[in-house]
Amino acid sequence: MQIVFLGTGNAFAPQRDWSCMLVNGTILLDAGPTLLANLKRLPADPAVIRHVFISHFHGDHCFGLPFLLLDHHFLSRTDAPLAIIGPPGIETWTREAMALAFPDVAGKGWPRPITFVEAQEGETQSALGLRFMPLRMAHADGYLEAFGYRLLLPDGVLAYSGDTRMTETLYTLIDGAHAVIMEATEYDESPYHLGHTEVRALLASLPPDCTVFLTHLDSPGPGPWDDLPVIIPDDMQIFTLGAAPSRPLRGAP
Ligand SMILES: [Zn+2]
Ligand SMILES: [Zn+2]
Repeated sequence: MQIVFLGTGNAFAPQRDWSCMLVNGTILLDAGPTLLANLKRLPADPAVIRHVFISHFHGDHCFGLPFLLLDHHFLSRTDAPLAIIGPPGIETWTREAMALAFPDVAGKGWPRPITFVEAQEGETQSALGLRFMPLRMAHADGYLEAFGYRLLLPDGVLAYSGDTRMTETLYTLIDGAHAVIMEATEYDESPYHLGHTEVRALLASLPPDCTVFLTHLDSPGPGPWDDLPVIIPDDMQIFTLGAAPSRPLRGAP
């Protein structure tokens, strides 16, 4: 399993770009505003993307999507299908975002075949051959729906929290995963985000061979998470994990 951290910062972070991970070369977890520039910096051809998972409709997680579609219109042309997975309303959101960002282009239709898939809480879903399970997170209650995703990849289960404060559902999200990408925004828990105490409690539930990355971070360099058995990635850092250990997993492929 390969994970490239294209953006590791929260919405206010100095010196970090916004949330986006590239998994196994073709899957995007969130689409922060800096997605396209960092994809090209790798370099990677935007046409190779097959799946985009949007955790929630905060701009630091999804405002890069219109730029990806714009690039498909003019530069990275491809007829290969793309799946965009997100909270209910993902197709309407994408259409409206495109119309706001590039009204002269939006009328041309989608630049490649796109399948929109709405996240269904706790269901094992499939898009273009990739199986995944969305789980409802707790974030910006009353304003938007936030989801974490368990990706059931051939080389193991990858759990991604998106943005969330503490919720029991997080234990289901990360259960037995091969790798976890977990938000860690503020030292103290807030109505929006996990704090140090909550992250430590979640880590205690994981097997020792699970690799945990923290993201949605603040400044680079030494920080309040350094005493935890986790990896603090920087932007553009690439990690390759070995094969997943065999153990019974919830919703395993
Ligand atoms: Zn965020
Ligand atoms: Zn958010």
